Amino acid sequence: MKLIHSVADMKVRCREISRTGKTLGFVPTMGALHDGHASLVRASTGQCEATAVSIFVNPLQFGPDEDLAKYPRTLERDGEMLEALGADLLFVPTMEEMYPAGATTHVEVGGLSERLDGLSRPGHFRGVATVVAKLFEIVRPDRAFFGQKDAAQVAVLRRMVRDLDMDVELVVCPIVREADGLAMSSRNAYLNENERKHALVLQRALLRVLHDTDQGERDIGKLMATGEGVIAEEPAARLDYFAIVDPDSLEPVSDLSRGALVAVAVFIGTTRLIDNLLLGPR
Ligand code: AMP
Repeated sequence: MKLIHSVADMKVRCREISRTGKTLGFVPTMGALHDGHASLVRASTGQCEATAVSIFVNPLQFGPDEDLAKYPRTLERDGEMLEALGADLLFVPTMEEMYPAGATTHVEVGGLSERLDGLSRPGHFRGVATVVAKLFEIVRPDRAFFGQKDAAQVAVLRRMVRDLDMDVELVVCPIVREADGLAMSSRNAYLNENERKHALVLQRALLRVLHDTDQGERDIGKLMATGEGVIAEEPAARLDYFAIVDPDSLEPVSDLSRGALVAVAVFIGTTRLIDNLLLGPR
C-alpha cells in the first residue's frame, strides 16, 4: 500500500491505475477506523481491481462547538488495518493540501442539506459535499463506497453526483454493528462504560418502530411517538431528532407505501450518535 500526502501525487497514482484500464474503488473516511470502515474497503476490493482510501478529518464539516479538536486520530493503526485489507493507496492530505489559502468554493446541495443532520448541524453537509467533490476529482474513482449508517449523507451525495453529472457510481453498504446492536462509530470511543450501555437506546427505538410496523401499524404519527417515547424513557439520552422520511428527498412521508427511512440522532452525554433503518415498501 502506498501512503500519499499530496494532491498532485495522489492524482498521478490514481491516473496511472485508471490508464491501465483497472477499475478504481474509493473509500473516503475520517480515520479512527473500525469494522464499519473495513466493510467498505472489503466491498471495494471485492468489486474493483484497485482500491484507494482517504483519511482526512475535514474541518469544513464540523460546527464551531463540535468535536474537531478531539476527534480520534489513530493513523498508525489505521494504516496497518488498511494494509491488511489489501488497499492499494492511502491518501492522507494535510489541511493546507485540501484547502490552500484563498480557497472559497463550496458545494451546496440545496434543500437536502438542511434536513436531518443538516438541520441540527448547520453547514455540515456543505462541508461534506465540498470535500467529497474534491476527493472525487482527485481520485476519479469508478465506484465510491459509503455506509448506510450516514443515511442523510448518502442522500446528499447521491443528489450531488446526479446534479453535477459526476462520473462515479455510489455503492451504499449496510450498517455494521457491535454484537449488542450498537452501530459502529468512531465517536463510540467517547462513551464511558455507563454511556455505552445507554447508547443502546437508539437501536431499541428503531427496533420498536420496526416491530410495530411488522404488527401492522401504519400511522406515521403513532410510529414517531413510539420511537420518541423509547428515547424519552432513557434519562441519559437527549433527543436531537427522530424522523420518518423519504430516503432520497429526506422529506417526511405521510404513509409507508413507498418505504421510508427511520432515522434517529441522540446525545448521550456530550456525544452525538446516529442510527437508522430502512422500511421496505409493503
Ligand atoms: P467516517 O469516517 O465517520 O466519515 O465514515 C466513513 C465512511 O464509513 C462513511 O461512508 C460512513 O457512512 C461509513 N461508516 C461509518 N460507520 C459505519 C458502520 N457502522 N457501518 C457501515 N459504514 C459505516
